[in-house]
Amino acid sequence: MQEQKFIGAHVSAAGGVENAPLRAHEIGANSFALFTKNQRQWQAKPLLQSSIDAFQANCRAYGFEPQHILPHDSYLINLGAPDPEKLEKSRAAFVDEMERCRLLGLHLLNFHPGSHLNQISEEACLETIAASINLAHQQVPDVIAVIENTAGQGSNLGWRFEHLARIIELVDEKERVGVCLDTCHLFAAGYDLRTATACQQTFAEFDQCVGMHYLRAMHLNDSKIGLGGRVDRHHSLGEGMIGWACFEYIAKAPRFNDIPLILETIQPNLWPQEIQTLRDYAAEVNVKTVTV
Ligand SMILES: [Zn+2]
Ligand SMILES: [Zn+2]
Repeated sequence: MQEQKFIGAHVSAAGGVENAPLRAHEIGANSFALFTKNQRQWQAKPLLQSSIDAFQANCRAYGFEPQHILPHDSYLINLGAPDPEKLEKSRAAFVDEMERCRLLGLHLLNFHPGSHLNQISEEACLETIAASINLAHQQVPDVIAVIENTAGQGSNLGWRFEHLARIIELVDEKERVGVCLDTCHLFAAGYDLRTATACQQTFAEFDQCVGMHYLRAMHLNDSKIGLGGRVDRHHSLGEGMIGWACFEYIAKAPRFNDIPLILETIQPNLWPQEIQTLRDYAAEVNVKTVTV
């Protein structure tokens, strides 16, 4: 049967991006996330052609397709920065990240929208973020800017669906903007996911406010922090305040087919097991459709 769920983890690219698909394959993933440069430094050496070739060869060898690979940008970038100098630096770094994705033949770039740092209004910050995306689109073709919802820690925006909707509203190339929903961040931001009914309600609200067709990826993480705690602390699936019902729901619901479902859970030694459990839940649905 055709695979419908693409499940993986944010794997290390230590030693070169070409190592990421090998590590993803080792944990039984058919999707993965990676940093294409050191995520805590501004500067990065350009990707070597040999590294790009090896990355693409390894992806082909292990069956990873570009639409199931989700690069994440550097944590230093703030596309909504109030300070003009920092904003310019962030925008240049973001364009570089997008260009690295394009060179690798990838279509998605996952990033955190930005922070107002209590120096500008929420609206001004959202407008700045959208303008940053538009500038990046003008400079790099093909790559889709995938906005991640946040936990709402500090002055980070993007924790309310309304923030995501407002940014998208201001982006010119709508077909090149999308959303990655992180379950830990959703829960910390006050969107309940503890039962199938709660999940249904939360995703219905997302659909109404933003639109399900903008959903390009998911980050599957449990949360150490309670509902609405506004702090970003990931946990292993089933070990935090969210619980397995949420992840079973996502594994089974067809609306999460064909997009990267990425673990950023805190015990990498558990990834093979977490991936297998999610696959088992997904397979229960397939069995049902075949026998009915
Ligand atoms: Zn993230
Ligand atoms: Zn995340």
